[in-house]
Amino acid sequence: MSTAVIRDLSVFGEAIAYFNEAASLLDLAPGMRAILTHPSRQMIFSLPFQRDNGELEVYTGYRVQYNFARGPAKGGIRYHPGVTLDEVTALAFWMTWKCSVVDLPFGGGKGGVTCDPSKLSMGELERITRRYAAELVEVIGPDKDVPAPDVGTTPQIMAWFMDTYSMHVRQNVPGVVTGKPLEIGGSRGRVEATGRGVSIVALAELERLKIAPKNARVVVQGFGNVGSFAARFLSEAGCKVVGISDVTGGYHNDKGIDVKSAIAYAQEHHSLDGYRGGDKLPSGDVLEVECDVLVPAALENVFTIVNARSIKAKLIVEGANGPTTPEADAIFRERGIEVIPDIVANAGGVIVSYFEWVQDRQGFFWKEADVNERLREHLLLNFDAVRELAAARGVPYRTAAYMLAIQRVTRTLELRGVYA
Ligand code: NAD
Repeated sequence: MSTAVIRDLSVFGEAIAYFNEAASLLDLAPGMRAILTHPSRQMIFSLPFQRDNGELEVYTGYRVQYNFARGPAKGGIRYHPGVTLDEVTALAFWMTWKCSVVDLPFGGGKGGVTCDPSKLSMGELERITRRYAAELVEVIGPDKDVPAPDVGTTPQIMAWFMDTYSMHVRQNVPGVVTGKPLEIGGSRGRVEATGRGVSIVALAELERLKIAPKNARVVVQGFGNVGSFAARFLSEAGCKVVGISDVTGGYHNDKGIDVKSAIAYAQEHHSLDGYRGGDKLPSGDVLEVECDVLVPAALENVFTIVNARSIKAKLIVEGANGPTTPEADAIFRERGIEVIPDIVANAGGVIVSYFEWVQDRQGFFWKEADVNERLREHLLLNFDAVRELAAARGVPYRTAAYMLAIQRVTRTLELRGVYA
């Protein structure tokens, strides 16, 4: 498959562009490059399920297991109308490098169902989840592939997923999926972990830039799991959150948004629609609000050649996966805007997922303070390694992160040997 062709057509192609740059700097052998730019497995399932009114419909589900070199595939499940095989492949590709750059014993995977969960009842969500999990039974498991939540999926959905798998294999297997509710083997601190990780790397970088948190103005796009917790932890650290948004629009308050009340509002109304703690932006777009730290935490491809020159942030911390197209990234480099790339910035979630998997396998559960401290230590250790490599090679953080991640996967493949 020609990467040049993919590059022009798809999210996966955009993702490959970053890989190619780092691979060239590493002088990666063509054979290794070919292995790492091909997904190990891509699966598509037809998922018949029954609506509450008794009618049958068929949805499409996907699971991509991109790479297993460092351990079982690991990555979330997305329920969204825009889910495609291409998108899931790109997300599984990113998971491979994310797990490697933060040094977890996992490969990369991702899954999804093309559906709009906001239009499904709880019963319908349960049925589609069980059918999807049943299709995956042979190919997932604690030593094979460990899913988790992503956009549109919740701890409750993970609970149904775990139950369906456990019923099929006739034993309780909490470690088949992470992001579960606490009562059935979830980890303390998992729900907040991705947003907490975003805030940990953002604050570490502000310190390097000599900007005190109290002088830092923050904007967050997307107010779901990642965005709302990132906003909360940054505001608790003293930063002023001046803009937030979700799919219903953007809200701006120069004096600072009261993040706690915005979260309470979004929980009560299931969105920010009607929120009065800031002015609703006519364009609906918070991305162009002036700030020190901009956190995209919605979906991919939000920074493009069209808007990259209008961004007025000093530092972008990628809470979402793949928010920056390569063209926008080049513009940010040229303009001196620093970017902490997704595979590092939002790795807090998969780090605590790893802790959850370890706890499930031990049957021994940790205190929340221990989870949070181990998360901080693990993330900062690896972020520091990225910063050191970036300084040593004179490259941006994103390139350094890919270089470190690719080196680790390549080393594993060299040690194991390629079964060819
Ligand atoms: P979520 O479904 O909880 O929240 C998504 C938010 O984005 C919602 O508030 C939604 O309204 C908003 N949104 C959607 N389109 C928007 C638009 N055009 N403008 C502004 N806001 C918009 O999802 P999440 O789990 O918070 O995931 C967000 C991103 O973070 C995704 O890219 C996901 O892959 C990534 N991520 C999530 C985790 C995790 O642990 N949940 C971990 C790593 C990365």
